[in-house]
Amino acid sequence: MHYANSLLDLIGNTPLVKLNKTVDDAKGLVLAKVEYLNPGGSVKDRIATRMIDAAEESGELKPGGTIVEPTSGNTGVGLAMVAQARGYQCVFVCPDKVSEDKQNVLKAYGARVVVCPTAVEPEHPDSYYSVSDRLVREIEGAWKPNQYANVNNPRSHYETTGPEIWEQTDGRITHFVAGVGTGGTISGIGRYLKEQNPAVKVIGADPAGSVYSGGTGRPYLVEGVGEDFWPTTYDPDIADRIIEVSDADSFDFTRRLAREEAMLVGGSSGMAAFAAVQLARELDDPDAVIVVLLPDSGRGYLAKVFNDEWLAQYGFLPATDEQTVGQVLR
Ligand code: PMP
Repeated sequence: MHYANSLLDLIGNTPLVKLNKTVDDAKGLVLAKVEYLNPGGSVKDRIATRMIDAAEESGELKPGGTIVEPTSGNTGVGLAMVAQARGYQCVFVCPDKVSEDKQNVLKAYGARVVVCPTAVEPEHPDSYYSVSDRLVREIEGAWKPNQYANVNNPRSHYETTGPEIWEQTDGRITHFVAGVGTGGTISGIGRYLKEQNPAVKVIGADPAGSVYSGGTGRPYLVEGVGEDFWPTTYDPDIADRIIEVSDADSFDFTRRLAREEAMLVGGSSGMAAFAAVQLARELDDPDAVIVVLLPDSGRGYLAKVFNDEWLAQYGFLPATDEQTVGQVLR
């Protein structure tokens, strides 16, 4: 019989898949590390497990304890999945701008969701930062993973994702590309790859406006990447270069990945893949082996990136749509 003892045993060991049509005539190989195939649907399953393992070992998280984190997205799902398997409670605190769908996903895994007003300063007692801090103080046995400052976030990638990519490419990887949010992915994987071969180049992809590409934190629409502050989980010595990508290019490429590669992924994946293909074009090198990490699935963004009205409302022209319609009409 072949079966896993728990869904948690299926985290990691995600496949590398070659990008074909979206690479056009660029030379070299562009390989996608498809992280939405993790059981919780994103790369964050990896950090959730590692952060919880470490907190159990250090005694910060005790049997029957409660995990409290200000998150509305993938990290919440990863934490909720591991918590359920190991008998912990979860309370997630999120601002009221977070869609009901996202809140419902967390509730479906058995987590409690506390919603706070978006329109208050971080110092305000009702802000989601203040509320999560208060819950940690008030709930007995509470523990806050704090993915923006937890060393086990980059460490999970140093220990698992990095070695997987090195082995899957037989040590022939020349460039690694990833979007930057907490910076855990790029810092952990990048450090591992450079230790194996210092010639490997590490490239961050960042939404225009975010601090990593020199912005001030001005708003952008792609979710999960870019910051308005510098988290300690980002190691500034790892990335050799940051490629800035506009929302328009991120969303257009996200839609191309679904239609041309059958990869239904989120906007941060489109952003990273856009940067990887741009890099392939610049390098113009048939021996280049570029690995790009795709963090999550497009299922969570059907009402946004994949919705023409939503895109149109922000003035983005979905070029691929226009072409398709044009061809049919002609
Ligand atoms: N994409 C998505 C959808 C994410 O949720 C995250 C995590 N914030 C990232 C990319 C960036 O990963 P990291 O935090 O490791 O930099």
